Amino acid sequence: MKTIIEPFRMKSVEPIRLSTRAERAAWMQEAHWNLFLLQADQVTIDLLTDSGTSAMSAEGWAALMRGDESYAGARSWFRFEEAVRDIFGYRNVIPTHQGRAAERILFSTMVKPGQVVPNNTHFDTTRANVEYVGGRAVDLPCAEAAEPGQEAPFKGNMDVEALRALVGELGREGIPLIMVTVTNNSGGGQPVSMANLRAVSEVARSAGIPLYIDACRFAENAWFIRQREAGYADIPVIDIAREMFSLADGCTMSAKKDAFANIGGFLCTNDDLLARQERDLLILTEGFPTYGGLAGRDLDAIAVGLREVLDHDYLHYRITSTTYVAEHLHRRGVPVMRPAGGHAVYIDARRLLPHVDPLCYPAQALAVELFLEAGVRSVEIGSVMFGLNPSTGEEKASRWELVRLAIPRRVYTQSHMDYVVEAVTEVAARAGGIRGLRITEAPRFLRHFTAHFERLDGSP
Ligand SMILES: *Cc1c(COP(=O)(O)O)cnc(C)c1O
Repeated sequence: MKTIIEPFRMKSVEPIRLSTRAERAAWMQEAHWNLFLLQADQVTIDLLTDSGTSAMSAEGWAALMRGDESYAGARSWFRFEEAVRDIFGYRNVIPTHQGRAAERILFSTMVKPGQVVPNNTHFDTTRANVEYVGGRAVDLPCAEAAEPGQEAPFKGNMDVEALRALVGELGREGIPLIMVTVTNNSGGGQPVSMANLRAVSEVARSAGIPLYIDACRFAENAWFIRQREAGYADIPVIDIAREMFSLADGCTMSAKKDAFANIGGFLCTNDDLLARQERDLLILTEGFPTYGGLAGRDLDAIAVGLREVLDHDYLHYRITSTTYVAEHLHRRGVPVMRPAGGHAVYIDARRLLPHVDPLCYPAQALAVELFLEAGVRSVEIGSVMFGLNPSTGEEKASRWELVRLAIPRRVYTQSHMDYVVEAVTEVAARAGGIRGLRITEAPRFLRHFTAHFERLDGSP
């Protein structure tokens, strides 16, 4: 059979509100042309993020009812710990309310002011948490990552030579830990190969520096390894994941990604002494070490989600559906990042709107048009998000002008995706007439969330 079907059926549905173009234009104006300021109810297809937006299974919902809400040593905790240990393999498992709390605890205990943390590409909260404790977050993506249109199987890889040079220069004293993000979210959801992870691990181990994995999309990464890396085609994804984690000393995880949960995360480490310090911090701000800011029912849902996400039929469908959108857009002449990443499709707005100056925010303008066209909510990853240097107030064009269509797990069907492809194609066909935007007010930090805009063509 050629058709790859969604490997699930629905027993509970949520209505989608359909709207007219006039309604959407009014809502967009009320939201000051910022898609974060829309009400979710005004959105037809919400591709703002894949974080915490997954559909849980019947088993996941059943697990919520099994939740044991005892303060300490709840049954839910032991089920959670067992699931995490089984897949990730680390000795110490520390639950947190989401990924960034794990990051904060990790960097607070490991990083001193002035020290450097290398990563293939830091996710924004990861970078912010390194910088918050006075560290310097250095991105070392591989060369193939620079060109959105260039095909390569593992564009999420770290530049191992650059890492070796940095480690040679700063040594163990200057680098308290190395991190690798799988898949590389900020680099387009692109995977990291086992060979690259192994090479990074060797550099880390020979220098005596701990290696941590930012594991948010570990199952998608493991699937890509199975599909694309020699020697893995017959290995179960769970064993590929175990091999990935065996190369590191610990990990941070957001259960809002590859665990199908609406909330949750954890931190793992093989270092018992460090784990003790981390648990002390956990108690201070998250909670007792057997719940860490989560309800027992959340722990149970995560335990179920971690097992489901490694199902081969699910991963086949998941990666195929993302690829489906990217390839259909590509065939219709829309410039997209290729090959498709795991969780999202990225439209290259710089190539689609070359007439719009980067500081008139081409990707924001495109995202706005896509909403006006079809009620599809996406997110700008470009000069609105990254163009302003908050400490100097200076603005310059970002490296990329991308519109990200993040695909929530198990939420939308193929016809929803066909609708999205059609909408993007329609907007792309009239790209020449799209003008940019101007910011009328914005804070200095993380301005993309709350900035107000005005359209440069003056039209409402
Ligand atoms: C989402 C994410 C995080 C942070 O997790 P939250 O649960 O949102 O706090 C960290 N790293 C990566 C790669 C992510 O995608």
